[in-house]
Amino acid sequence: MEPLHFDVLIIGAGLSGIGAACHLSRECPTKRFAILDRREQVGGTWDLFRYPGIRSDSDMFSFGFDFHPWPGLKVLADGPSIQQYISDTAEKYSIKEHIHFGIELSKANWDSEKNLGYRRN
Ligand SMILES: Cc1cc2nc3c(=O)[nH]c(=O)nc-3n(C[C@H](O)[C@H](O)[C@H](O)COP(=O)(O)OP(=O)(O)OC[C@H]3O[C@@H](n4cnc5c(N)ncnc54)[C@H](O)[C@@H]3O)c2cc1C
Repeated sequence: MEPLHFDVLIIGAGLSGIGAACHLSRECPTKRFAILDRREQVGGTWDLFRYPGIRSDSDMFSFGFDFHPWPGLKVLADGPSIQQYISDTAEKYSIKEHIHFGIELSKANWDSEKNLGYRRN
């Protein structure tokens, strides 16, 4: 199989990874990027933990993305709403097509001669 090449490889489709991908697609539209996540859905923490009462500690107006402000009215939000918000953000900025689910990165290497990073499972 031919190797896939990306300018940027993001590990994790949680709040950070989706945020990084949105910034990349908005500010560096020519860069090719991908997100790898061992899980099968976006959201990271907010997809993993589903116990009753799970919620944010921060106010959502500062926890949310500046480019896609938190749409709710409550200051603190429950976990499923945050998971939905991350998913909606990924949808809005067409990030989902860049995500490769079910891939766990256990090792990555950098080749200084070729100026290339590559992943090893
Ligand atoms: C109950 C609770 C409340 C919280 N409240 C707040 C709050 O109010 N404010 C705040 O700032 N923070 C809060 N946090 C912390 C919260 O986890 C972070 O703010 C934020 O969601 C972390 O996002 P992240 O994308 O950095 O990491 P994560 O959400 O952990 O996502 C990381 C993703 O990377 C993937 N991944 C990791 N390693 C690999 C690998 N080797 N290969 C492939 N995939 C990989 C994981 O599967 C995961 O999907 C809270 C956490 C919890 C549990």
